[in-house]
Amino acid sequence: MSETIKLDKSYVAGTYARFPVEIVSGSGSLLKDSTGKTYIDMGSGIAVNTFGIGDAAWKEAVTGQMERVQHTSNLYYTEPCALLARELCQRTGMKRVFFGNSGAEANECLIKAARKYAAEKKGPGFFTIVTLNNSFHGRTLTTLAATGQDHFHKLFQPLTPGFVHAGANDLEGVKKAALENKAAAVLIECVQGEGGVMPLEREFVRGLADFCREQDVLLAVDEVQCGNGRCGAMYAYMNYGVVPDIVSTAKGLGGGLPIGACLLGEKVQDVLGPGDHGSTFGGNPICCAGALSVIRRIDEALLREVREKGDYIVGELTGTPGVLSVDGMGLMLGVKTARPARDVLDTCREMGVLCLTAKDKVRLLPALNIPMELLKTAVDVIKKACAQEVEA
Ligand SMILES: *Cc1c(COP(=O)(O)O)cnc(C)c1O
Repeated sequence: MSETIKLDKSYVAGTYARFPVEIVSGSGSLLKDSTGKTYIDMGSGIAVNTFGIGDAAWKEAVTGQMERVQHTSNLYYTEPCALLARELCQRTGMKRVFFGNSGAEANECLIKAARKYAAEKKGPGFFTIVTLNNSFHGRTLTTLAATGQDHFHKLFQPLTPGFVHAGANDLEGVKKAALENKAAAVLIECVQGEGGVMPLEREFVRGLADFCREQDVLLAVDEVQCGNGRCGAMYAYMNYGVVPDIVSTAKGLGGGLPIGACLLGEKVQDVLGPGDHGSTFGGNPICCAGALSVIRRIDEALLREVREKGDYIVGELTGTPGVLSVDGMGLMLGVKTARPARDVLDTCREMGVLCLTAKDKVRLLPALNIPMELLKTAVDVIKKACAQEVEA
């Protein structure tokens, strides 16, 4: 066991079940550990390192800004923040952006904006947010309340009130929950990530969008994991042909630096005024400069590449020995395996490929620009690991 691992086990809060690997460096979609072993990275830091490790253009944007000014507070204007906000609005049709530092913080803003909109428009009773069973929206007490998985809730009561959960793809159930609870918003992940990489059904999302428009209930989408090109569209909701009222995103946005964003659509664009919300580090110029370079590179050619690579993985893995199913969209895929997913991950790691899990599935979230040769090698290893007999 490396000295780092010993120190970490002694001194870092035990919130993570880490793999026994100390990463020391990397390049693109390759990672190196403290023993000198190289791995192909099929997780990209949980969909964060959009263009892999140390991408040249991203690094130049980040270090260039670092040499100018690293932080100013939100009392002053900085160019990267303003340019990134414009870029995000132009790419989505949303009207304004609030910047924070994480997915949970983006969702906190989304929830506050939805509540204030409904309170002003409909009255103080309209605060409930309907979310879906099996969803994941973050770890703060409010975003935990939004998360539709009871096992996260048990020991942290009382959570923030005002959240109800309904079945994913159960349109009538969601409508009923929204109407009975005077909902301010319905919040969905178009592709549920932590819940097991489950894309919502097209009819459900489109029906929900119609319902929300008719009832003036806000349609809110959590694009923290599935956004920023990951699913073969700029944001996953675009694959469904719907227009949400509020969007949260984070993870891949910064390409490896902490940044979250809440995109406010037409209805809610002016809901948040001075003093309503804030974040000391939000809109940090270095993070915004990195994110701007990421977002500007997510063009139609890259998105096509993401879809093609996703199709390649699905085609290779579907129906091969030990693989029960492959779900997901673009380069956000969940593989149900005959062997326990953890065992498949152990075998892959021994063979030099790092994957993730989501619930009982093997989850794949490689960098969007992973070279095809590396992807082929990784998929071959995953196939072998899935096919391996369960040890007697
Ligand atoms: C990861 C994730 C979050 C939380 O993001 P943090 O940056 O960890 O706070 C929220 N929603 C979804 C869909 C996520 O995948």
